[in-house]
Amino acid sequence: MAELWQQELQRAIGSVDRLAGYAFLGTDAQLVENKFRTLVPEYYLNLIDKSDPEDPIAKMAFPEVKELLSGSTALRDPIGDLSRQVAPRLTHRYPDRALLHVTNLCPMYCRFCFRKNLMNEKEEELYVGDFQPAANYLSAHPAVRELIFSGGDPWMLGDHKLSELVDLFLKSAPQLEILRFHTRMPVTLPARITDGLISAISRMGKKTIVVTHFNHPREISEVAKRGISKLANAGITVLNQSVLLKGVNDRTEILQDLFRGLGSIGVLPYYLHHCDLVSGAEHFRTSITAGQALWRSLRGTIPGYLLPEYVLEIPGAIGKVPVAEPYVKALGGGVYSLEHHGTKVEYRDPV
Ligand code: SF4
Repeated sequence: MAELWQQELQRAIGSVDRLAGYAFLGTDAQLVENKFRTLVPEYYLNLIDKSDPEDPIAKMAFPEVKELLSGSTALRDPIGDLSRQVAPRLTHRYPDRALLHVTNLCPMYCRFCFRKNLMNEKEEELYVGDFQPAANYLSAHPAVRELIFSGGDPWMLGDHKLSELVDLFLKSAPQLEILRFHTRMPVTLPARITDGLISAISRMGKKTIVVTHFNHPREISEVAKRGISKLANAGITVLNQSVLLKGVNDRTEILQDLFRGLGSIGVLPYYLHHCDLVSGAEHFRTSITAGQALWRSLRGTIPGYLLPEYVLEIPGAIGKVPVAEPYVKALGGGVYSLEHHGTKVEYRDPV
């Protein structure tokens, strides 16, 4: 018998044909589906204002034809997951952490997603192969003390499979101290947060951290709050990373409400990401200057512990840096020099 969250997933809307009547939906939206999948759980659909043609929640969930217009700087793999791949499904960018690509499935395909190209490709380069070689790699690299289960959404695996995966890695790499899960399920399908899930991701003597992904205060529903409490009551630390998205949350009062709202449910805002150079998501990217002005407007208006670090992922797999001098230097005309660990990269605002 499928669990409640699995039943919800089976009922999720997988085509724009079933979204008639939503004011946001453009006439050519179905053209996008040949390239990027659509999936919206009913729960998330209920957060949308059907009559609003500019609804920020709909913008994150529904395809629009702008996704087919890629800017010249947009990338298929903006943060270089593939160039830092060290074993099937494993990316190793920082010395003490590694990232496991558990699945290319999600309960919702967010239109801004930085992995949207890799997740939608038939070859699924990032998501093929057994997990054992990745476990062997970690066994041979004892400096890695934290494993990040990412995806897609790692919680798409059933409890049993998830638990087996955790055990496989802890057996091969007992030095792992922290199990970190990057998931948007508390936002898109909070019914996933069950006792079975908590058992699957928790282990005696290891710390479990969940990094979730609320982008708008309207995503903090009563159901989401209950899910977060369940995690917190189990001793799991919950952090949040948001992406700055044009037309969704690029206003001071929206970000204030978002970060205060997260604080009130015990979730600490960890990063505010400048939108990556994603092919198919350029329409979500703000200019650096606009992002910096917004971030400055938040300073002093919310408690410092609720103000996330504003960061930008340097294209080319180098890592993320604060969106400020000396890492980001304006050269004029919307062009910037990004510098980290001696490597310089030119970066351009969207046209
Ligand atoms: S849930 Fe995460 S990985 Fe999946 S589409 Fe959304 S942002 Fe991308």
